[in-house]
Amino acid sequence: MPSYDTHTYDVLVIGAGGAGLRAAIEASAHGVSVGLVCKSLLGKAHTVMAEGGIAAALSYVDDRDNWKVHFADTMRGGQYLNNGRMAELHAKEAPERVLELEAWGALFDRTKDGRILQRNFGGHKYPRLVHVGDRTGLEMIRTLQDHGIYQGIAVHMECTITTLLKEEGRVVGAFGYEREKGRFLVFFAKAVILATGGIGRAYKITSNSWEYTGDGHALAFHAGAELMDMEFVQFHPTGMIWPPSVRGILVTEGVRGEGGILLNNQGRRFMFDDIPALYVNQTADNEEEGWRYTQGDKNARRPPELLTRDHVARCIVREIKEGRGTAHGGVLLDISWIKKKLPHAEDHIRKKLPGMYHQFLKLADIDITRQPMEVGPTTHYIMGGIRVDADTQMATVPGLFAAGECAAGLHGANRLGGNSLSDLLVFGKRAGEYAAQFAKENKSVTISGEHLDQYSREALRYFETEGADNSFQVQADLQDMMQDLVGIVRNEADMLRAVEELKKLKERAANVRVTGNREFNPGWHTALDLQNLLTVSEAVTLAALERKESLGAHFREDYPDRDEKSGKFNIVIRKSEEGWMELRQEALPELPAELQHIINEMK
Ligand code: FAD
Repeated sequence: MPSYDTHTYDVLVIGAGGAGLRAAIEASAHGVSVGLVCKSLLGKAHTVMAEGGIAAALSYVDDRDNWKVHFADTMRGGQYLNNGRMAELHAKEAPERVLELEAWGALFDRTKDGRILQRNFGGHKYPRLVHVGDRTGLEMIRTLQDHGIYQGIAVHMECTITTLLKEEGRVVGAFGYEREKGRFLVFFAKAVILATGGIGRAYKITSNSWEYTGDGHALAFHAGAELMDMEFVQFHPTGMIWPPSVRGILVTEGVRGEGGILLNNQGRRFMFDDIPALYVNQTADNEEEGWRYTQGDKNARRPPELLTRDHVARCIVREIKEGRGTAHGGVLLDISWIKKKLPHAEDHIRKKLPGMYHQFLKLADIDITRQPMEVGPTTHYIMGGIRVDADTQMATVPGLFAAGECAAGLHGANRLGGNSLSDLLVFGKRAGEYAAQFAKENKSVTISGEHLDQYSREALRYFETEGADNSFQVQADLQDMMQDLVGIVRNEADMLRAVEELKKLKERAANVRVTGNREFNPGWHTALDLQNLLTVSEAVTLAALERKESLGAHFREDYPDRDEKSGKFNIVIRKSEEGWMELRQEALPELPAELQHIINEMK
């Protein structure tokens, strides 16, 4: 039996983005030993890319805001498919988590009288997003890392987990490899927290980086945990589309929050053409009112550009499909027009949106203070994920916890911008606390060497196959296929084709051939990531086929309306005894009367 570099902790956290770091800090604060593993260098998680802000009803800019309004906005945005308890905890606890971050050293933008400044974002009734220009994620990660340094957390960087270890019906650790050396590592832990982020790399056009291959979702599924709401993939309305090398890179919603408008190739502000019934009362019916809203006029309603992401993305797709798009297949997002309204507008734009200013200047040779940006939808976020208990974040397998983007429940059918960063803080903390508690109540369990040998053989098999394909090609074909057949507008015929294509891609992925050795070998890493991408792609496709209605981010052109008859349900996926994906519809539990009352009051 080969020997493995082995580490033992009370709590192992897989993922060092906002959720993982916050969980690790909390677990450590509860007096247990904590190991933290991440695929890339510490500080390079996805969270660092977050731009627009953290949603929290601090009510510093508009005193009408409070947790109840935030709760109602989150539920409306999620088309009421959200887990009500999670939405309640999130809205109630987000302000405290933000203030805690500030106490740990985060420097947020301020109001003139020195309070934390909050900005407008789609679907949020009042200005609610705490931010640092358009670099909020960087400040969040910097603060969490700085704070975490003093907590005695052991960090394992550039290490990918490939398997969760299970014994006695619970998760007891994880198996992985060092990306640089290719050596295998074993972690034993009394509790494991998954905080691995999203699945964006299953699609060709995405704002997500190479790390987002759905690892946590797949690890949990194979360990017997349930996945939920996998059909709900968020396509952010505004990604860069030109030049091709930058296609998909995010253009923050903050641009629209600061007054940016969407135009088609005829110069028409098309978002006024289609306002969903749920939002008619809250949406401006003329341009002047929309502008006043972005400038803080409390009597004005939000401009239609700040409707929820699912709706804005579909309106953009409609303009493009009906021939009113730009030459490169997008629409125009214009912030430079505010020159007509504000003195010193160019300085104002550079100050409020420094990242966007540099991003367009450097990557597309566009000066956004003078020219409009070309934008189109990009795969951004997954609302679905590992099913967890609302209070403790424990998955349906004991000893396994999940937080952040890889967990399901809070966002329902569509996430509001800014609600992810607050999700990471609120539920990262909770996952850390309850995993520590679980660790204190359970003993450490090791696992036989035979099992570990089997995991290492499985990981190394790609060096021995006779296949002709390489992992990059199969991954690219998968991304093309998901983009074309299970994208923003879906139908049954396409998705049945996707199911067939997935079978072929699985066969090819099982036989990809990796050359070279184990030391930093991207072909090998991609071969391993591919297995996760295929698992999550299958889950998304099967759940999207199962939901025969259009709801939130899931749009079926063959079922364009909501199915009122079958009522609200979640689609839950688990691994059958035979290893298949088993799907079931589960009726949504009734909301407690006091939460339902809040929703009714705010309608
Ligand atoms: P991440 O921050 O992605 O961290 C995942 C971690 O898991 C990483 O450390 C990774 O290395 C590790 N990992 C993954 N797989 C493995 C494995 N197999 N083994 C070991 N480690 C692994 N949301 C907002 O609320 N506001 C915003 O303004 C905002 N802006 C955004 C801008 C961009 C460009 C993008 C892409 C997203 C934005 N989001 C925003 C969404 C938000 O940033 C993410 O949803 C959030 O950061 C996810 O955090 P996380 O902690 O769940 O995962």
